[in-house]
Amino acid sequence: MVLMKKNSLIKIMFFTEILKGMALTFRTLFKPAVTRRYPKVKVPAQPGYRGLHALAKDNTGRMKCVGCGLCGAYCPSQCIHIYTTEGEDHNKVVDRYEVDVARCIFCGFCVEACPFGAITLSEQYDYANYSKDAFYMNKEKLLANWDTYFEGEKGNQYFKKFWRPLTEDFKGNPEQAMFSKIPRKEKR
Ligand code: SF4
Ligand code: SF4
Repeated sequence: MVLMKKNSLIKIMFFTEILKGMALTFRTLFKPAVTRRYPKVKVPAQPGYRGLHALAKDNTGRMKCVGCGLCGAYCPSQCIHIYTTEGEDHNKVVDRYEVDVARCIFCGFCVEACPFGAITLSEQYDYANYSKDAFYMNKEKLLANWDTYFEGEKGNQYFKKFWRPLTEDFKGNPEQAMFSKIPRKEKR
């Protein structure tokens, strides 16, 4: 007890705590700052970061989305809206695909739910805007995001690395009845 009091007294008399603090300040004074002056200084997001949405295109540049609606059904924020019509060969045509990004919680469920790897979350985090409209992404904006943020092999790599299941995971039972598309010429 007496020893403890003695130590405290020495600390008070010689300002040891203050001197320690000043030494620490002095040691870090000439080191480069760890803080960044965002938005002037931007750093890339960590790989796999869940940022702004993008609608994926295949190698021929066609939109992968078939309008099945699974992503919208899974979305807990109900911020995905898909509007389809029937096209040639009874294919679904995705007329509108919209994401209200301001409502999104970036859970990634839409990406996981999609059996076609058609909806993605890019590494883009820097899209602040004064207008609420800027956060309402339509099909055209989402497809443009793919071109901007997933150029070249990046899209494929990003998908394979960070997201499952992928299309190839949906093998199904070999005995299972499947739809097979009849080529147009053979149609009666
Ligand atoms: S990340 Fe989550 S909240 Fe956002 S659109 Fe996808 S499912 Fe909805
Ligand atoms: S993004 Fe995927 S899950 Fe959503 S409608 Fe298109 S194909 Fe279906």
